[in-house]
Amino acid sequence: MDKKIREILNTKWAGCEVVYLDETDSTNVQARKLAEEGAPHGTLVVADRQHGGKGRLGRSWESPAGEGIWMSLILRPEISTLSASMLTLVLALAVEKGLRVVAGVDSQIKWPNDLILNGRKICGILTEMSSSQMDIQYVVAGIGINVSQREFPEELKTIASSLYMETGELFERERVVAAVMEAVEQFYDIFMATGDMSGLIERYNGRLVNMNQEVCVLAPSGEFRGISRGITSTGSLIVTMEDGTEREVISGEVSVRGVYGYV
Ligand code: ADP
Repeated sequence: MDKKIREILNTKWAGCEVVYLDETDSTNVQARKLAEEGAPHGTLVVADRQHGGKGRLGRSWESPAGEGIWMSLILRPEISTLSASMLTLVLALAVEKGLRVVAGVDSQIKWPNDLILNGRKICGILTEMSSSQMDIQYVVAGIGINVSQREFPEELKTIASSLYMETGELFERERVVAAVMEAVEQFYDIFMATGDMSGLIERYNGRLVNMNQEVCVLAPSGEFRGISRGITSTGSLIVTMEDGTEREVISGEVSVRGVYGYV
């Protein structure tokens, strides 16, 4: 896949170097190693299969051979560590656009890091950072996109889907990667111009799957319900509680669910 990605990529820096692996533990792990060795901003690690694919909070990510896009992008943004979590949101917008351009689908975002198509998860994003004091050394943004799976293991059947299962079409993974990288550059520039989500709020909220609906927020301190009102310029999710007060939920340790199911 790597040669073909390079041939069709039309970007300035995203995917400037593509490292292709047939099989690996996790592209995030490999990208971190490369970043430690000095790999430049925009280096992309792509694998055909991961046997230790990671989700957030120690969860695992199912990454069967040849059926999805399992990739990690190395970023070296000059922003404070406090702003790094917003990159997950920027990448979600980029994947949403890439999927729309190549597959013609209208996916939605489940704050902060998942893409949903017809109620099921087709993409997850896991952003990891290395920093010293307040400076970011690098960020590794792992993106998993389900492309051609025809079915999922039992435990994922009700929550996961693929582009093929939703559209009946098979898409070339290289084209999806290229379109996502092009969109990454577009939204990353908008993000870096202000260092926050202010230039992207409307776009993000317009694609938020649970906008103005009741959600269940699973936080380490406990679970609560409220109405999701969209993000702030710093990428937190505003949730209106039953008593009318607003809570700003910071991403990180938090997951959001629909009240009746996954979304
Ligand atoms: P959450 O949606 O709970 O915030 P994460 O973003 O951490 O979860 O993603 C990990 C979760 O995604 C796993 O616990 C599993 O339920 C689900 N998952 C794992 N592999 C896949 C996949 N290929 N496609 C869709 N969902 C998956």
